[in-house]
Amino acid sequence: MNKDKDYYKILGIAADSDKKEIKKAYRQLARKLHPDINPGNKFCEEKFKEVGEAYSILIDDKKRLQYDILRGFINNTGSRATKQTQKAYSTQTTSVPQKTKKENKKFNANFEFFFKGFKTEFSKIFPQNSTEKKSYGEKQKKAPPQKGEDIITEISITITEAQNGTIRKVNILRTETCVKCKGKRTINGSSCNNCSGKGETSSYKQLSVKIPAKVKEGSKIRLIREGNKGINSGENGDLYLLIHIIQNSCFTFDGLHVFCEIPVTPTEAALGAEIQVPAINGFINMKIPAETRSGQKFKLSGEGLPDAHSGKRGDQVITVRIELPSNLTEKEKELYKELAKMRKFNPREHLIFEK
Ligand SMILES: [Zn+2]
Repeated sequence: MNKDKDYYKILGIAADSDKKEIKKAYRQLARKLHPDINPGNKFCEEKFKEVGEAYSILIDDKKRLQYDILRGFINNTGSRATKQTQKAYSTQTTSVPQKTKKENKKFNANFEFFFKGFKTEFSKIFPQNSTEKKSYGEKQKKAPPQKGEDIITEISITITEAQNGTIRKVNILRTETCVKCKGKRTINGSSCNNCSGKGETSSYKQLSVKIPAKVKEGSKIRLIREGNKGINSGENGDLYLLIHIIQNSCFTFDGLHVFCEIPVTPTEAALGAEIQVPAINGFINMKIPAETRSGQKFKLSGEGLPDAHSGKRGDQVITVRIELPSNLTEKEKELYKELAKMRKFNPREHLIFEK
């Protein structure tokens, strides 16, 4: 137990917090600071230990009482200090006595920021190469080079492009460490104006990307080192293009062959008709013969996808489905009755029913 450490402040809680609040604060911080989440980050490692120490004292009634007495959090009436007294006390203390005055000031300022902002993404508050980390570390070590983050972006292509391959222009927005403040976010104590204090800048780049023939839905094309810029001369991340093939809801595919189902009216099916059907390059006209049955298939030769090498195209296969209009009028119903009287037709007569 170190009476010079403010365990309440470390956990970001008031001196009159109950066990539930202590547990909650500890869990949230431990999750953020865990070494598994921040590998190699010495600052987080130190904080993680400190948070653990604070928790072990405050969760134990005996230890907490002892600590509170040492810190003056228990007043002479024996009751626990209020939030106000705790606040008043904590402003007089420094959390890290072994540091220089300048470092302490910096550290405490960061510490405040940390607790105020711990809902924010932790990595944004303490980027790996930030000055905060350096000022807290025992030695001013040069931050190691770090690989930039990968970028994953979706690219939508048509079915024909997927089959034949294509070249697409891809616009990517990638980030790099600010060249002016070198990611430190401040210059001589004031916010860097080059990156607006973000520590990084964004830039657009247009790339011409060759998408190979016969690319599949959901496949990834990797462009090595076209991702976000590396930090401290580390290599760039990679760019991944996630392929999305725009599907026309009507079509299914099997190699170069295209399949779709086309609804027709009972009249068209009975008398035959010339109808427009969707094809991969727009609409085409097609004749259906008289007495077309529902489910009948028609092949449109050479209307499928072209082969990437020979240019020879597959076929389109159309399956006809007879669709009846809804909300039949009285007149229409009369005519159907007429039709029924004219021809005794039982399409189920070949089916054998029991009983
Ligand atoms: Zn900057």
